[in-house]
Amino acid sequence: MLNTNAINSFLRQHDLRIAQNPCVSPDFCLDWAALSARLVAGGAIKEWPKSHFATAAGEWTLLEDEGTGDCAWRLTTQAANGAGGVLTGGVRVGGGTMVFPATWENLLRLKNLVQEHDAGATIFPTSGAQLGRSTLGIGARFTTLHWPAVDWAMSALDLGVTANQNSIPRELVYDVNAMLEGRLDSVPFPFIGTNVPEGHQGQSVEGMSHGCVLAKLKSGFHQRRIAWSFNADHQPIGGKFDAREDDLVRGCLLASYITFDLSPELALNRPAVIADVPAAIVQQTRARVAQAGLALDDAAFGRLLGTVWPAMLKMKQRDDKYATARAAAFTTDIGRTYLRELSIDELPGLTTPETTAVMLALCEVLEMPVNFVAPAFGFQKNMPYPDNAALRTLIARQWAVCEKFGVSIGFHSGSGKSAENYRVMGEVTGSRLEIKTSGRYTYEMGVAIAQSRTAADQALWRDWYRFTLEMALAGAFSNDATEQKMARTFIVDPLVKCGSPLAHDDALLFGSPEATRAALEALPASPEHMFFFEYNFLYVLAAGGRPAKSSLGDHSPAGYQQRARFYAISPETQLLYAKGVARYIVFLAEATGLVPEETCASAKARLDGYATFAALVDEISEAPVAATR
Ligand SMILES: [Zn+2]
Repeated sequence: MLNTNAINSFLRQHDLRIAQNPCVSPDFCLDWAALSARLVAGGAIKEWPKSHFATAAGEWTLLEDEGTGDCAWRLTTQAANGAGGVLTGGVRVGGGTMVFPATWENLLRLKNLVQEHDAGATIFPTSGAQLGRSTLGIGARFTTLHWPAVDWAMSALDLGVTANQNSIPRELVYDVNAMLEGRLDSVPFPFIGTNVPEGHQGQSVEGMSHGCVLAKLKSGFHQRRIAWSFNADHQPIGGKFDAREDDLVRGCLLASYITFDLSPELALNRPAVIADVPAAIVQQTRARVAQAGLALDDAAFGRLLGTVWPAMLKMKQRDDKYATARAAAFTTDIGRTYLRELSIDELPGLTTPETTAVMLALCEVLEMPVNFVAPAFGFQKNMPYPDNAALRTLIARQWAVCEKFGVSIGFHSGSGKSAENYRVMGEVTGSRLEIKTSGRYTYEMGVAIAQSRTAADQALWRDWYRFTLEMALAGAFSNDATEQKMARTFIVDPLVKCGSPLAHDDALLFGSPEATRAALEALPASPEHMFFFEYNFLYVLAAGGRPAKSSLGDHSPAGYQQRARFYAISPETQLLYAKGVARYIVFLAEATGLVPEETCASAKARLDGYATFAALVDEISEAPVAATR
């Protein structure tokens, strides 16, 4: 079990409390001594009225000190002396009533108690219902502020989705102690010509796992009994990640869905020869590929198999570790089961149907069948695919293979495609798909906050926009060729859209930094500008909000103080944001054919009707009227 003493005292010492900076520690109580004393003394503590659930031990309620965000579990039992040993750290507050700290350890125990008592409970992420066939992946590149909208949309559409999805260790901190000890690696970001520390969102994988469960209890979403999943996205297999794979496995314990990304191992370019592969596996794989209708000659099959074999062995080893960790920590089948996705879209070029077939056959033969596979379709993040007929052909060729294996298609880099693109994806696959979106929800925050009339939010918007403008400007004059080229692309695009004559005159536009600055500053501040979209997520953990490479992904108090600015946004902005996020999820569900048009239409009408954020949150626990008829 991860020791959380160091992270909790770091956060307390710098006054980075959960209420203003959630999901950094795996625990949702940083100071149990203080909270338990207040509970015993009968101090004012928020009792979340919709959070009730039962286990064999009794009735549970989530409590929170709203000043600090520290949380506790209250258990009411029939037993006169309480049930002290159910969780750790318990304190008696009345005859049959105990309170326990909301620690990571207690959350894992609680998962067993809940699922042993009620296999259909949806408090925790699972792999249930249609989640392994048809879903939407709702990632976030910067905060957890989109969750109310996601839960509202699932409830209104009566559709469980991949409600939590993040790349680890790229976006989330995989180990808070490694973070405190300065042992985080860094990730190359070629478009800014530098490396940014891992975990650039600032939250830990366990903290986020914990936070999304508590968020659902607070709103009463769990009362809707809609299964949802948590995807540990792009789990890197092999290469330099071998050294810490046990830590990656431990951090992702609560994920009910694992995406295997083989690119670190494949990038080593150390293919096996066919003689290295056990003969029985070669035969079974060959037969399965043929059965799926793919004709490959021996040489081509051997080359393909040899290329992927070392990576597939490492995937198998990792998969065993995920399964073993769940078997050790969890007591029920539903608690142990997880979905799998094989991500191959990171490999260069478009994925051929033959490659997909060999990979899927190997997954079957090695007894780690996948639910989703993500081939490369040549998608650019946040750009529509330009040719729908070509897209239909491309997907149809992949689907012909996937269908034979009973595997759905994962569409990565799925944000910002056109309605027609999504319709094609849905039609060709019969809605057996997952659209993974992420950057969209940062952009939606830009849209919301730019419209806000709250002074502090307006200031945050101006600072945020300015940050992206300065990043673009510095990049445009960088000595790094890739960085310069990308930055200039991001600058020219809005100038074209705004009809600036400079857009078509590179010599003038980039003649001097002053000329570029003047052109950028002549633009109206807008979240629609490409440079805002590309650089925006780096602002959340930028120390002091500074647009300098050295400030990015800062895990010191300066980075977290910056992050707190977003968690302080007004209810007005939260409502604008929630409406934008929910509207986008409804749009995706409709375009891909996951939810009937009428349901989507009534969800949109309801959404338009909310005048306050509280009203929207209040209805997360309500079944839509049409669905109950
Ligand atoms: Zn991918």
